[in-house]
Amino acid sequence: MTELVSQSILDALTDVEFPRRMAARAVWKSLPLDGMRLPVYRGQALVLGSGAAGLRAAVELKRRKIDVVVATQTLFWGTSVCSGSDKQTLHTASTGASGDDFLALARALGAGGAMDADTAYVEAVGSVEALMALKYLGLPLPEDCYGGVLRYRTDHDEAGRATSCGPRTSRLMAKVLAEEALRLGVPFVNRCTGLKLIRGKDGSAAGLLVVKADARGPDNPYGLALFQCPAVVLATGGPGELYRDSVYPVHCFGSLGMALEAGIELVNLSESQFGIGTRREGFPWNLSGTYVQAMPYLYSVDSSGSERNFLADYYRTTGELASNVFRKGYQWPFHAMRTLDFQSSLVDLAVYRESRAGRTVYMDFRRNPERVPQDAPFSLDRLDADVAAYLKNNDAWLPLPIERLRRMNPLAIELYRRHRVDLDTAPLPFDINNQHMNGGIAVDIWAQSSLPGCYAVGEAAGTHGVTRPGGAALNAGQVFGIRCAEHIHARWSGSGSTMSAMDDEPFLGAAGECAALIRRDLKNPEALRVEDVKKEIQARMSEQAGFICHDTEVAGALERALALNASVREQGIRIENPAQIAKAMLWRQMALTSAAVLSALSLYIGRNGGSRGARLICSASGTEVPDTKNGKLEEYRFLPERDADRKKQIRVRYEGGRFEAHERELRSMTSPGEFFFEKNWAPFLSGRIYEKGYPETLRGPADR
Ligand SMILES: Cc1cc2nc3c(=O)[nH]c(=O)nc-3n(C[C@H](O)[C@H](O)[C@H](O)COP(=O)(O)OP(=O)(O)OC[C@H]3O[C@@H](n4cnc5c(N)ncnc54)[C@H](O)[C@@H]3O)c2cc1C
Repeated sequence: MTELVSQSILDALTDVEFPRRMAARAVWKSLPLDGMRLPVYRGQALVLGSGAAGLRAAVELKRRKIDVVVATQTLFWGTSVCSGSDKQTLHTASTGASGDDFLALARALGAGGAMDADTAYVEAVGSVEALMALKYLGLPLPEDCYGGVLRYRTDHDEAGRATSCGPRTSRLMAKVLAEEALRLGVPFVNRCTGLKLIRGKDGSAAGLLVVKADARGPDNPYGLALFQCPAVVLATGGPGELYRDSVYPVHCFGSLGMALEAGIELVNLSESQFGIGTRREGFPWNLSGTYVQAMPYLYSVDSSGSERNFLADYYRTTGELASNVFRKGYQWPFHAMRTLDFQSSLVDLAVYRESRAGRTVYMDFRRNPERVPQDAPFSLDRLDADVAAYLKNNDAWLPLPIERLRRMNPLAIELYRRHRVDLDTAPLPFDINNQHMNGGIAVDIWAQSSLPGCYAVGEAAGTHGVTRPGGAALNAGQVFGIRCAEHIHARWSGSGSTMSAMDDEPFLGAAGECAALIRRDLKNPEALRVEDVKKEIQARMSEQAGFICHDTEVAGALERALALNASVREQGIRIENPAQIAKAMLWRQMALTSAAVLSALSLYIGRNGGSRGARLICSASGTEVPDTKNGKLEEYRFLPERDADRKKQIRVRYEGGRFEAHERELRSMTSPGEFFFEKNWAPFLSGRIYEKGYPETLRGPADR
């Protein structure tokens, strides 16, 4: 930002307030169960989760006159609301001078492989509506004087398709959607944690069992509640608690474990994002974008207080070192292949090694990078050409990192100040953390999972491939929020809008099973302790399934994860008191999730899959070795990716107490050039486009 922006403008983009009260959904009836009375809510559609994706789905459903109810663990909590999600990727053809097209954006979305072609195209096409509706609702998207959205280049994005409203972009998105939900009268039921998906007699989704903290009372001692809704949209975000080293906000669990228990297929669980950031024990925030483009000094400190300019052991010149710190700005997630040839992921590897050696790593904005011995000191004049051009174009050709940061992004400084960290006066400790789950619930082009009537949107859905451009997560959540609403609406539009009464039996069955489990585990001294389960899962995931993996360790980690699940099944997880039911149940689900991730990873590695995206798969038989100024890092010798693996996905199911992982070819798509107006208008009007198998079913014999 080259112009001085007033504090009140900066405040408005940083302190984002939500509506104080949302409409509430009243209990519809209650059901008797073993001397208890369980409240039952109902609606045509249930959205579980109130992040940016869930709110979008709810608003889009309500606009289509579907009787939707939102149940959520914590209203206005989760990754969208609490994390530094600062950008959204958009289709730029309509707004850019030399833009691109949907196919080019789809190619970029799926460039890392393992992404279905139709999903990528749906996200590309849908991004225009997704973004423009947010603008209409009041999202302060930055524009030029002609109305073009201001854009910049971000991770895995060669075209500069990202835009941002500042560090609180996703919070602002959630805010405008919450305001719209309030205007439309979308009803909410807060403090609900999903426990069990319920199938109707025909095998499709019928609703959900939850534990609702404030529903506990004399006739409902566990606080169980039921939702009778024939469409369920899981919008519960990612499994943020899976890793010990994590930049997710605390208490983000998601619902992958619940989906596994319901027999739903998950996909691409081995694909995630890891990168540098400040951890959730303090203020969790990604150190991407201008934080690193300002080129602060990165150093480590050992237990005796000695400082180490550790990057000087890796890069050959001071200019190369500083330029690669800069590139972390738009190459933020760790990428295995970028550890080679002195590229930017060597920074991540170096930070990781310092941390493992017991040193604390800092970023200091008051100092420029220190020189590499035998090379000249840091100078703006010795930076790589792309870096120098960026600084000049943004009027940030300034002597110190803090000045460059203040010029380019004063909100970045403001934000840490609000969390009592003053970048003007103190260095910032940071580390490598898990940040995003690319995989999740496998869905079709309408966001429907393998369980008919159950949809997944946002980070809960496994719509991304091995890599994703920065901003693509938010975009996917918005696009599929719209898509599932269209699909659910189409189901109701044929059958009138009234809901017939549902059979209570499956609901009572699910609640009965769950109540029995709770009774067994409540104050049970034989059961496992939540803290132990948590520690074991998080340590295993960070040590053996983090961004550095060893091919010889993953199978053992899977065995231990399966053993933990067996103990959880047999011994249970101790519930200290009824207020702890949700916590114990979420860790029970997390144990399943972690075993599912390890099942996928183990299959991938067992078939000699190589390092790709977020994971370096170290192996004695590897052919690649990261190079440093001081020589090769033999201990990180790794297997490169194989092209054939890019064309497949790994899918995981949990059935009969066993995980089943298998590979599947990617879905292709009908070329958009084949959609001629007259031929395709009728299927749109009749609703055939929503049918399973379409557009293949449209094709006549002559087309085949
Ligand atoms: C530090 C950081 C930076 C990021 N930066 C970007 C970025 O710049 N651009 C980008 O596109 N993406 C980014 N991401 C990823 C992106 O923010 C998330 O993928 C996205 O916000 C997820 O939105 P969501 O609506 O799916 O889930 P969330 O926003 O996490 O919402 C989940 C909701 O579900 C509820 N919930 C969760 N579990 C349960 C349960 N079991 N039962 C009931 N309710 C439940 C929660 O209370 C919450 O309301 C970033 C992520 C992190 C951590």
